[in-house]
Amino acid sequence: MSANLAAIFYLVSGILFILALRGLSSPDTSRQGNYFGITGMIIAIVVTFLSIGNFSTSLVYVLLFLVIGGAIGAFIAFKIPMTAMPELVAGFHSLVGLAAVFVAIAAFLNPAAFNLGNIGDIKLASLIEMSIGAAVGAITFSGSIIAFLKLRGIMSGAPITFSGQHILNLILGIGIFVLIFYLCKTQSTNIFWTVILISFLVGVLLIIPIGGADMPVVISMLNSYSGWAAAGIGFTLENTALIITGALVGSSGAILSYIMCKAMNRSFVSVILGGFGADNSSKDKKEKKDQKPVKSGNAEDAAFLMKNASSVIIVPGYGMAVAQAQHALREMVDKLKKNDIKVTYAIHPVAGRMPGHMNVLLAEANVPYDEVFELEDINNDFANSDVAFVIGANDVTNPVAKTDPKSPIFGMPVLDVEKCKSVLFVKRSLSPGYAGIDNELFYKDNTLMLFADAKKMTEDIVKNLD
Ligand code: NDP
Repeated sequence: MSANLAAIFYLVSGILFILALRGLSSPDTSRQGNYFGITGMIIAIVVTFLSIGNFSTSLVYVLLFLVIGGAIGAFIAFKIPMTAMPELVAGFHSLVGLAAVFVAIAAFLNPAAFNLGNIGDIKLASLIEMSIGAAVGAITFSGSIIAFLKLRGIMSGAPITFSGQHILNLILGIGIFVLIFYLCKTQSTNIFWTVILISFLVGVLLIIPIGGADMPVVISMLNSYSGWAAAGIGFTLENTALIITGALVGSSGAILSYIMCKAMNRSFVSVILGGFGADNSSKDKKEKKDQKPVKSGNAEDAAFLMKNASSVIIVPGYGMAVAQAQHALREMVDKLKKNDIKVTYAIHPVAGRMPGHMNVLLAEANVPYDEVFELEDINNDFANSDVAFVIGANDVTNPVAKTDPKSPIFGMPVLDVEKCKSVLFVKRSLSPGYAGIDNELFYKDNTLMLFADAKKMTEDIVKNLD
C-alpha cells in the first residue's frame, strides 16, 4: 500500500477514534462510540500490515503474537469481574508503557531498521523522541504496577511518604532531562539505559505517596501517560495512527484527571505530590464506633418505609457492584413506581471503583437515563425526599468530608443523604469503605442499617413490596 493511501486510511481511523470518544461521553451513545473505536482500530491494524508490504517471516511472528495477545486479552475481558476493572486498566496501562520502552530500546540499538540513521549516528529529532518516549513509557510502566498492586490490595493503599520525597523526585526529574541532553550529544548506550532505569524509579516514587482516596485520579493520570508514551513512539516509528491515538488517549486522560480532581475538589498538583488519602481509621475511632449504638432493621422494615414514602432517592456505590445487585434494584424500583412513588438515582462522580462505574451498571439493568442524576443536579433534592436508599455506598455519603480537615476525603463534595427523612444503608457490616474511614451517618437517628449482601437484601425487599 502506498504511503499516501495509508495516510488517508490512518486519517479515517483517527476520525473514527474522535467519534468514539464523542460517543463515549454519554451512556446513550456509548455503544455506538465503541463500534466507531473498534472499526478505527481494525482499519489502523490492517493498513499497518498492508503498508509493510513484504511478508517476511518476522511478519508471521508478529501475526502469531497478535493472535496470542488478542486471545489472552479477550479471555481476560470475558473473565474479569466489573469490580476488578480499575486494576485491570492499571495492568494494561503498564503494558502500554513497557511496549513504548521496548520499541525505544529496539530503535536505539538498531536505528537502521527504523530508518533513523546508524548506531552512534542517530538523527537528533529521533533521539529526542525515543528517549522521551522511553522515559514516559518507563514511568507509566512502574507507576501502573504500583497502582495495580494498591488497587488489588496486594500493597497497602495508604500513602508511603518520607522526608525529602518531593526534592528527590524533582532532582530525578531534572536528572532525566540532563541525561537526555547528554545522550543527544554522546549517543552513549550507558546514558540511554540510565534514563530508563531512573524513569522506572520515578514511576514508583510518583505513585507510592498517593493514598487510596486519590486513586481515581491516578488511574486517569496513568491513562494519560500511557497515551503520551504511545504518541512519542509513534514519532519514532513514523506511524501517524499511533501519534493520533496516543495524543487522543493522552489528552482525554488528562481531561478526565482534571474532571476527577474537580469532582473531588482536589488540586491536580496536590494529588500528584501525594501523601493524601491515608487510612486513618484510627484505633480510638474504632473503639468509638464499637460503643455507639446503631439502629438496624430488615427487609420488611425497609419495604414498609419505602411503601409509605412519596419520593425515594437511590444512592448506589461499590457494594452494589460487588453484589451485582443492579437487576434486583431495578425490580425494586419498578415496584415502587407502580405504587406512585417517585424514584430517582443519585450518582457520585467517584462512586464505585472507576469513572462511570455506576452508570454502566445501571445501564446494564436498563435503568432509564433520565432517572439518573449527577451529584450537583440532585444534591438539593435530598432535603425534600422521604427516603435515601444507600446501596453499597459509603465514602460518597460521608459528611466527614465537610467537617474534618484531617480526613483523607476532606473537601470532596458528598451526597447529602442525611437530609432525607430516613436513610437506609444496605451493607454487610459497619466496616469503612475505600478511604478507610468511619461514617458517622451509621449512628444517626434517622438511619436504619440493613446488614446484608446488597443483592440478597434488595431481593428480600422486593418480596416484601408485594
Ligand atoms: P466505598 O468503598 O466507600 O464503600 C463501599 C461499601 O460497600 C463498603 O463500605 C462495604 O461495606 C460495602 N459492600 C461491599 N460489598 C458489599 C456487598 N456484597 N453487599 C453490600 N455492601 C457491600 O464505596 P463508594 O462507592 O461509596 O465510594 C467509592 C470509593 O472508592 C471512594 O473513596 C473513591 O475515592 C474510591 N475510588 C473510586 C474510584 C473511581 O474511579 N470511582 C477508583 C478508585 C477508588 P461492608 O463491607 O460493610 O459490606
